[in-house]
Amino acid sequence: MLKILITDGMEKTSLERLKKMNFHVVEQHCDIDTLKEEIKKFHVLVVRSATKVTKDVIDEAMKTKNLKLIIRAGVGLDNIDIEYAKLRGITVKNTPNASNTSVAELVIGHMFNIARFLHNSNITMRRGEWNKKKYQGIEIEGKTLGIIGFGRVGRELARKASALGMKIKFYDIVGPIANDERYRYCDLDQLLSTSDFVSLHVPHNQGDEALIGRKEISKMKDGAYLINCARGGVVDEEALIEALNSGKLAGAAVDVFVEEPTLNDVLCNHDKVSVTPHIGASTREAQRKIGDEVNKIILDFWKEREIDDRTETI
Ligand code: NAD
Repeated sequence: MLKILITDGMEKTSLERLKKMNFHVVEQHCDIDTLKEEIKKFHVLVVRSATKVTKDVIDEAMKTKNLKLIIRAGVGLDNIDIEYAKLRGITVKNTPNASNTSVAELVIGHMFNIARFLHNSNITMRRGEWNKKKYQGIEIEGKTLGIIGFGRVGRELARKASALGMKIKFYDIVGPIANDERYRYCDLDQLLSTSDFVSLHVPHNQGDEALIGRKEISKMKDGAYLINCARGGVVDEEALIEALNSGKLAGAAVDVFVEEPTLNDVLCNHDKVSVTPHIGASTREAQRKIGDEVNKIILDFWKEREIDDRTETI
């Protein structure tokens, strides 16, 4: 029987459906030592972003050679040593299409927050303050949104933001991939120097330098806003704090952090920053779609491999 270990939780309906397929499904949060032990017993590992599937974990799995498939229930694969997994014959899949809408909506929410001080008002009114004059914001209609990384989330954001009357510019490492006259392609420097809001939607590999550091921020418009709902390492957090303190940037929104859970209290408590704890895909709809995609991957895998109970080693 196919044995599946789910370490970072899974949407309930999809989980129940998976169990009804007569697979042996175990949902268990594992610390690194437990994972190294448990992984030997399973054919499939399903993780979100919390579980780190390192070379050491894969080496432990190879002691029984049961593990054949790792599924990242989500988009970013930066918590999995993909190259090493592939080298050891383990397939790695993710669910790339499930969360575009949810992430794009979160960016829009953050944009309104920082443009209209919603995050500050929520905190200060609860303390009994009435900062009507202090919280004069800006409209986002007519402003330029610069999108860096024009993949699934970037394009979905462009669609929604243009419906709000924003002008869209984008930069992508592969060039002008969008064939839509509403969106203008430009290089990174042009995008930075002409956008009122800059939103990041690129992947990040561990060890890579931050795409947005001091130099890039210095090229941004004075009083612009920076939004990161992609990956923590894409933005240099110290450089961001400096730019907020100096007034170079008017505000920022951050859903993802270099370290998660973050210990960066200065960033989290900064009154120019709207923060969320990596909840880009945390909606009922996205989790259901992710669950559906995970189940489909497992079923396809099951059909392909036709694992024979009689030859199992467990
Ligand atoms: P995608 O692969 O569809 O698009 C990424 C785009 O970025 C591609 O078009 C690629 O060419 C481009 N790109 C890569 N490196 C670049 C660079 N250095 N400069 C400019 N462009 C570059 O990915 P996606 O599904 O749109 O996801 C985008 C990011 O959002 C990923 O980092 C993903 O992990 C993250 N994400 C975050 C959450 C969350 O919970 N906050 C949820 C889903 C996705």
